[in-house]
Amino acid sequence: EVAHSTIAFEGRFARELPELAIPWRAEEAPDPQLLVLNQPLAVELGFDPDFLRSPEGVRLLIGNAVPEEATPVAQGYSGHQFGFYSPRLGDGRALLLGELAGPDGELRDVHLKGSGRTPFARNGDGLAAVGPMVREYIVSEAMHALNIPTTRSLAVVATGRQVQRETLLPGAVLTRVASSHLRVGSFQYARASNDMDLLRRLADHAIERHHRGSDGESNRYLALLKSVISVQAKLLAQWMLVGFVHGVMNTDNMTISGETIDYGPCAFMEGFDPGAVYSSIDEMGRYAYRNQPLIAEWNLARFAESIAALIHEDEEQAVTLAVEALNGFRKEYSATWFNGMKAKLGLAEDIDDAVSSPLVDELLQLAQEARADYTSFFRSLSKAARGEAEPARRQVLDLAAFDSWLERWREASPDADAMDRVNPIYIPRNHLVEGALAAATEGDMGPTEQLLVAVSDPFTERPGLEKYAEPAPESFGPYRTFC
Ligand code: AMP
Ligand code: MG
Ligand code: MG
Repeated sequence: EVAHSTIAFEGRFARELPELAIPWRAEEAPDPQLLVLNQPLAVELGFDPDFLRSPEGVRLLIGNAVPEEATPVAQGYSGHQFGFYSPRLGDGRALLLGELAGPDGELRDVHLKGSGRTPFARNGDGLAAVGPMVREYIVSEAMHALNIPTTRSLAVVATGRQVQRETLLPGAVLTRVASSHLRVGSFQYARASNDMDLLRRLADHAIERHHRGSDGESNRYLALLKSVISVQAKLLAQWMLVGFVHGVMNTDNMTISGETIDYGPCAFMEGFDPGAVYSSIDEMGRYAYRNQPLIAEWNLARFAESIAALIHEDEEQAVTLAVEALNGFRKEYSATWFNGMKAKLGLAEDIDDAVSSPLVDELLQLAQEARADYTSFFRSLSKAARGEAEPARRQVLDLAAFDSWLERWREASPDADAMDRVNPIYIPRNHLVEGALAAATEGDMGPTEQLLVAVSDPFTERPGLEKYAEPAPESFGPYRTFC
């Protein structure tokens, strides 16, 4: 069956990297119902949103109607999960429909999650429940609005099929859009195959799609490594600056593009705690808030190992070059993080480090000892810059230390308006996300839609949205996330 869409999918990944692509079809959904559609993104991609809302469009969104030019594939990749290597992960419940070329010529993947078992499914059922797919939709769109590189969400469609988890739950497919789905794990998979031609084609594909600057370099694969390190260092700094905890930073969940991917047991930190960990399966706290940059660096070392043979034919030289490149991670991460912190405090970029560095350190110390709500505390500082210090003072314990901090900070002339452009007022609060998912599971998309209104414009304070700016009530208890 052919869907009538004027959009043409390219099969670039499938064609250039057939060893990593198994042609496959989505499972037929008994009763597909569109739960949420990202209209602006649909338009950006060149879709007619009215078509996507039609029964035929909904079938396209879940891969049940496949345009004749398209070749949906399950992608192969490996990965270190919690430090342990799995040689064969791959899309167990996902499919790449193909790529769409934007007006700028850039390709974007259209991808399905929850579309049924594939040859990579192992023991999994290939399915996804409404709740987790709506979570990915909400959080990825919030991240995008926070100006953090991320995969996007085009739609969630309920399939009409039940999914067995602890209980029976309604099933869904998420239609995800990304600049690509190349992962560190894709390179691990290619390297493990010992097919150097495949590895080189994969690296060239990544350069062509994401790291074109590496093209003219004398050692293009070393340049690729450095470029991936750079985009990931910047990404991690941005996560840390907004208090985002990814929850499952396995090497298969780390992109080559520098986009955040795979929103499973993720959370936004409320009370400031560097050791914060939310995922129920992360018993050792491997992916705790403060560990994230270290884990990213570790994952990038796995990437470096995977492409080392392309960087230099002599192993020792390859290692020397790779280690030197990896050393760039800390430098770039720290610089991006520190500049971001200065921006959060409204400080000039060229301010003397001797002034800004203690201001940042002491503020985080005060926030940590009081477990201040990370998001609203930073947001309240612009009020303090405007002369209204009480909302911030209410959140700390050591008032004498904070008042002295405020005095020194005000001498540095913080720019309150600039602060409000980088310190969000609305983030996807964990308790509100859970409420929205519970309602969505019952068929009520109202709370999801309202939450999306708040988090899609996170820096603009608006009347009537007060509850989206508040931390969870005590009664919500400690937050635990599940995959
Ligand atoms: P994730 O933790 O979502 O990044 O997934 C890790 C691996 O498990 C990937 O290979 C997924 O495709 C696979 N996977 C997760 N859930 C399922 C499922 N319900 N059925 C089949 N494969 C799954
Ligand atoms: Mg994954
Ligand atoms: Mg996942």
